[in-house]
Amino acid sequence: MKTISILGATGSIGTQALDVIAQNREQFKIGSISVGSNIKKLEEILEQFEPKLVSVKDDSDRLVLAQKYPHIEFTSGARGLIEVVSDDSDMVLTAIMGSIGLEPTLHAIEQGKDIALANKETLVAAGEIVMSKAKAKGVAIIPVDSEHSAVFQCLRGENLREVKKIILTASGGSFRDLSRSELSDVSLEDALNHPNWSMGQKITIDSATMMNKGLEVIEAKWLFDVDINQISTILHKESTIHSMVEFIDNSIMAQIGTPDMRTAIQFAFSHPRRMPMNNPMDFSALSQLNFKPMDLDRFRMLAYAYEAMEAGGTMPAVMNAANEYAVGRFLDGEISFTGIEEIVKSRMDGHAVVENPDLETILYYDKLYKTDMR
Ligand code: NAD
Ligand code: MG
Repeated sequence: MKTISILGATGSIGTQALDVIAQNREQFKIGSISVGSNIKKLEEILEQFEPKLVSVKDDSDRLVLAQKYPHIEFTSGARGLIEVVSDDSDMVLTAIMGSIGLEPTLHAIEQGKDIALANKETLVAAGEIVMSKAKAKGVAIIPVDSEHSAVFQCLRGENLREVKKIILTASGGSFRDLSRSELSDVSLEDALNHPNWSMGQKITIDSATMMNKGLEVIEAKWLFDVDINQISTILHKESTIHSMVEFIDNSIMAQIGTPDMRTAIQFAFSHPRRMPMNNPMDFSALSQLNFKPMDLDRFRMLAYAYEAMEAGGTMPAVMNAANEYAVGRFLDGEISFTGIEEIVKSRMDGHAVVENPDLETILYYDKLYKTDMR
């Protein structure tokens, strides 16, 4: 029996993870959970599960919940996230959105807990610190992101020195068929309408801007310890091939399956074993697989991510923070879709890189570049 705690239990990944746990009660048990402000969803979770400790974002919610559920322990705020990962669970699923996941993830690693990592922003902001701490503590970081789960599966039993290239597939997001000039007046509603996946709002916008693939290139760099130039991307609109690895003999391994995040979530939980699932892929219903080279001028945010990694130091954290800030403003209806890209670019241009930043430095810039700065 593996006990799993979840940061961000009410979100898209969190909810699907709870489904995996509910389907496999003999193997998995819920530990503690954190949620943001979706108290209605939390109450649905509490009907089905008995978490040890529940952390909510706002203390006012904690007070109300503590009265209503006297047998459950509640906590709140940033300290609550740390408490959730400090219980006696075996694994922590990081399904919280944004770089707010960084400190609790580091804390979980410090406690020796394996990480099922969905929260890619953590590795983008502080990949070096997170991976070296995991190594020092003997902690496994198992990817939940579908592309990285695919690469992780393709690399099982392989020698990393024989890897030529990692090929991340990209669906292209909501506006994949529009030209750059057609992007200027797209609506928030259209941006939130992803063709293949139902996900949280921020990652859906990131998919439309292609920043999601940029974050994933950086995530792959840290997870698989390859050079950034060994990571390539390709447009593949069916999201059937979740990603691929090309080896030095030009053999390519691909991981294929129904686009269902529960496969990657369950594999992260059951690793190194596999367990049955109920979402088989029907090859006969698949008429074709399409591929198109990635256009870095059309999808400039992906180019920015490569530039951020080349610049190194604090730049990836700054890019990520600027993006979280800009996407937040777009979701609030304050800026246009192309405004996201403009903010990220101008904040990156204005940043003087600090080399080899420690955690405090990263957290400082993360906070700074998420503010208005006007
Ligand atoms: P989501 O918005 O659906 O859920 C986010 C969760 O985090 C919610 O429970 C929310 O309440 C909580 N949360 C957000 N901000 C918080 C805060 N300030 N304090 C406390 N809790 C907070 O997001 P999601 O789509 O599930 O994505 C979660 C993470 O997983 C992201 O990093 C995303 O990039 C990654 N991811 C998601 C998918 C997917 O299919 N949804 C796929 C790959 C990777
Ligand atoms: Mg992904």
